[in-house]
Amino acid sequence: MPEGKIMKALSGFYYVNDQGSVIQCRGRGIFRKNKITPLVGDYVEYQADNDQEGYILDIHERKNELVRPPIANVDQAVLVFSAVEPEFSTSLLDRFLVLVESHQIRPVICISKIDLLDDTKQKKIEQFADDYRKIGYEVVLTSAKWEESITHLKPVLDEYVTVFAGQSGVGKSSILNALRPDLELKTDEISSSLGRGKHTTRHVELLEIGNGFVADTPGFSALEFATLELEDLAGCFPEMVEASERCKFRGCLHMNEPKCAVKSAVETDEIKLYRYEHYQQFYEEIKSRKPRY
Ligand code: GDP
Ligand code: ZN
Repeated sequence: MPEGKIMKALSGFYYVNDQGSVIQCRGRGIFRKNKITPLVGDYVEYQADNDQEGYILDIHERKNELVRPPIANVDQAVLVFSAVEPEFSTSLLDRFLVLVESHQIRPVICISKIDLLDDTKQKKIEQFADDYRKIGYEVVLTSAKWEESITHLKPVLDEYVTVFAGQSGVGKSSILNALRPDLELKTDEISSSLGRGKHTTRHVELLEIGNGFVADTPGFSALEFATLELEDLAGCFPEMVEASERCKFRGCLHMNEPKCAVKSAVETDEIKLYRYEHYQQFYEEIKSRKPRY
């Protein structure tokens, strides 16, 4: 049975890439009965009627799936945060990081618009980049105006299925455009295909960039911790996972427990105070399950 990967979903058709050829497939009725819908990113088995058309017969087990955008088997999320306009916020970044980590997706931090920085702000941003690199995150600094900085993103995307995420206005479409200038889309045109425009459809597409694939629709737009449990929160802070092995109590939640190694690590600056404060903030939020955004 031939196999391929769904690259695009549009008007009931799934476009399956099988080693470079694209076959326009319909889903079989069986999916509707089982309430499984094929998703962009799915690895599928299909039956070809001819060179160009066929039917999807089976969907391989998914590593994960996102609801918005509807896409399966996402490897990583590039979290785009502008250095300025809008101002860089570690609080919002940490929120995105926790959401992405809780989906078992690898986050990559992209700090954009670095062409707009003066020396003082540049130093501050580099300090933050350093903090996050120490935790183990990959951090890339970009400017859509400097082609060379965008080329640093390319190797990050290779071999992976990536979704971009981040507030509106941070430069996601500009980066995508710089990565694939041949698409010749204006940023506002991309924005409307990004689902914010009037002609919103369920169109989702994986764009080939180098040897990787990038979703043309940004993800993680709902920013509340709807399904995250309190005891899983610390697991979304890699530097806390390490320290928590030394907490006196098993199941320590690093709030008011005595002899908490996480709190000691904050005192010695091994864990950044702002990261721990965000942990506390998210903890309270999950406890009361009242979304802040
Ligand atoms: P999106 O909403 O995240 O897709 O952001 P856009 O790509 O639409 O960019 C929002 C605005 O920021 C536009 O006016 C862009 O021209 C501008 N912009 C994006 N990237 C950069 C950058 O690297 N440097 C500067 N100076 N402006 C940028
Ligand atoms: Zn603890």
